[in-house]
Amino acid sequence: MMPQMLHKTACPYCGVGCGIIATPKPDGSVEITGDPDHPANFGRLCSKGAALGETLSLGDRQLHPLIGERRAGWNEALGLVARKFSETISAFGPDSVAFYVSGQLLTEDYYVANKLMKGYIGAANIDTNSRLCMASAVAGHIRAFGSDTVPGVYEDFELADLVILVGSNLAWCHPVLFQRLIAARERHGTQIVVIDPRRTATAEAADLHLALKPGSDVALFNGLLQYLFINGKADTNFVIRHTSGLTDALTACGNLDNLVETTGLPLDGIEDFFALFADKEKSVTAFSQGVNQSSSGTDKVNAIINCHLLTGRIGKPGMGPFSLTGQPNAMGGREVGGLANALAAHMDIAEPRHRALVQDFWSSPAIAAKPGRKAVDLFQAVRDGGIKALWIMATNPAVSMPDADLIRDALRACPFVAVSDVTKETDTARYAHVFLPALAWGEKDGTVTNSERRISRQRSFLSPPGEARPDWWIICEVAKRMGFGGFDYASPAGIFGEHAELTSLGNQGTRDLDLASAGPMTDARYEALAPFQWGRDDGPEKRFFGDGGFYTADGRARFVPTAFRAPASATAEQRPYVLNTGRIRDQWHTMTRTAKTARLMQHIAEPFAELHPDDAIVLGLRSASLVMVSNGTVEIVARVLISPRQQRGTIFVPMHWTRQFSANAVVNRLVAGNTDPHSGQPELKWSPVALKPVAFAWYGFAVSRIKPRCAGLDYWSLAPAESGYRLECAGLDEPSAFDELLGAIFPVRGEMLAYHDRGSGEHRFALFDGDRLEAAMFFSRQPVGVSRNWLAAQLAGATEAENRLRLLAGRGGHDRPDHGAIICSCFSVGINQIAALIPYRVCPSGRRHAASKHSRYCRSSSTLRVAAPS
Ligand code: SF4
Repeated sequence: MMPQMLHKTACPYCGVGCGIIATPKPDGSVEITGDPDHPANFGRLCSKGAALGETLSLGDRQLHPLIGERRAGWNEALGLVARKFSETISAFGPDSVAFYVSGQLLTEDYYVANKLMKGYIGAANIDTNSRLCMASAVAGHIRAFGSDTVPGVYEDFELADLVILVGSNLAWCHPVLFQRLIAARERHGTQIVVIDPRRTATAEAADLHLALKPGSDVALFNGLLQYLFINGKADTNFVIRHTSGLTDALTACGNLDNLVETTGLPLDGIEDFFALFADKEKSVTAFSQGVNQSSSGTDKVNAIINCHLLTGRIGKPGMGPFSLTGQPNAMGGREVGGLANALAAHMDIAEPRHRALVQDFWSSPAIAAKPGRKAVDLFQAVRDGGIKALWIMATNPAVSMPDADLIRDALRACPFVAVSDVTKETDTARYAHVFLPALAWGEKDGTVTNSERRISRQRSFLSPPGEARPDWWIICEVAKRMGFGGFDYASPAGIFGEHAELTSLGNQGTRDLDLASAGPMTDARYEALAPFQWGRDDGPEKRFFGDGGFYTADGRARFVPTAFRAPASATAEQRPYVLNTGRIRDQWHTMTRTAKTARLMQHIAEPFAELHPDDAIVLGLRSASLVMVSNGTVEIVARVLISPRQQRGTIFVPMHWTRQFSANAVVNRLVAGNTDPHSGQPELKWSPVALKPVAFAWYGFAVSRIKPRCAGLDYWSLAPAESGYRLECAGLDEPSAFDELLGAIFPVRGEMLAYHDRGSGEHRFALFDGDRLEAAMFFSRQPVGVSRNWLAAQLAGATEAENRLRLLAGRGGHDRPDHGAIICSCFSVGINQIAALIPYRVCPSGRRHAASKHSRYCRSSSTLRVAAPS
């Protein structure tokens, strides 16, 4: 028997950058395990990473080029893209074309895309969906450090005595790093503070949760800066030797007296946080999208950094500000200059010496002389006709960008749109004049850089399917057809070697990024490349700035004055709620990969709007009803989730759902294109909206083997199930006959079992093919109350005759317990199973906690008793 081949690769989801071992099996499946030797995860994986093997099917893939809807050969498709770009540039100049790329691209793909745009086309209109993720962190780093440098490493989370998580639901969005933090807390009692308007899963695990008013982070950290200064916590030696601008930063902080009102936090909570920070020298402040996705995102970043500079807590073990990147290769994109305002190798597009250096190295005919258009601006220029040829690579801006309707208008109006991606089943690809099929994870080869500057190889372990090609190859072939030299690479190894060489060119310690140690890159060396971290060569953990050495002209870090500004749009009376958007635990971006596995859909299978119980009462919204969320111009509809985790006056809607999976739940349709003035990052977490109940005449839920027909339904949301689909739906008008409606949604024949209670409006159907359940559907005048996961599981096997009636009941009997909503997707463990095992404790206030989860505040103020499991 042939030995099974193990492939060491990296996860394609979040910026933690976990190492993975992929083992293809003889039956065509691929076993996925965490790589115990990878320094990011040491063998751990989260639910998304662990389910990667279930996302490799080819069913949704586009495997040959398309011109319009017509199949085309590569030569014709590439030639057309090259000709359209060349003609547009000839007629309207280099600024009339643009690339919109992605943190899903590998560094090598990014490098050649950036080289083509900035060095050969001669414009800088290349921007990336990383603009939506961490552009404010980049701008904040550059303002403070003179370079886009993440000073710390993951190990700092384990060495710190205090970890402050700001605008980060680490438990759901960077789960393996969260696991490392929780394990460290168990070893040495790390205290965790979460600063977030929502009581997220991360906040549940915190010692202190500060549920501040959305957008008030700058005020809180300005208050902390003043507190530290007044209480003698400044590291005077560090401040004098390595920084400048402290006085101006302190002056800009404003009046501490307003802090309670501005942040909405209780005074004792603020004081506890300030005292903790003052007391714990080993402190890490990690921040993510709640900080970055804001019209004052860059100021938020600098307000945090100011506190670390004042205390000298930067670049030392267990200390520092830490930017958590959302995407697997947001950092790699930054390294090669994939942002419109950056140059390759962390060089500065505004610096003539850097431009000359890059142009010489590339021997290129041109070099972009000024920054290009950032994402929001770029798509506005497409809509307004300033950009006439656009190439979108590996991303879905029709869903992920703010003002999503404007993006659609722009794509519709653009004279030429090329899209390269793995699937054509996206809301964006439908606008492509030319579709170029790219390789997916598991098929492509290259490198990615994680949030702690660690470069890992993504390795191919599957043969390229159909005619799909690597992104770097597609970009180089277009470049060659545009008549450009400099794109003759035989493999990604050659591209990586060139990138590494450029990072050390003329560097001599003047720039943070220097990959000279990677050495000349042969194919064999590249293939064997182990994960490595770049940084200063001052030890095995490559931190920056522990002893100064910032990349400003005088080598000093800058305190940046950050006066508090309220979010850009004022809340209008007609739109009294603040909408926050974000991720859920088991989905990734616009679900093009994660929705391929039913396991990940068991956690949350439908778009929802989470709001506070008091708001629900005021609005007359009941749990599981449907609500219209409107920004005054457009509206979406989502399922109501009532929860005290949400502040009054705010709602949360996940960002993932597209038109592939829902009738009308693309939440970014509601978000205006307001951006941070320094970073250009859009404000995705603060949009004024109105909420209104929708009077549906009926609600439906179905499970089925065949894909339901959703066209014509007023509301629907579709998710894959283990052996088929699950459908939530609703209608504004009662149909003349529910069995006719059933037939329209599931046009299949079979043996029908039905139950009708016309008085209550309950209609239930189960459709069989022999002993196999084909579909079961439940209609009601109220939101349907059945056991969804149990019903979905019934599609998997035969249904014995005696159990058919249970199907109509919508739940299993005592001998077939309902596991409830799935909490652990890795092992399909439901909430009912967990609840049966965990003793609860109940505070006098009536709040229930798992016995292990009382914070010190709870313990000190409450007498606890053990309650029976619920
Ligand atoms: Fe992948 Fe991030 Fe999960 Fe690690 S934590 S397995 S990188 S999604």
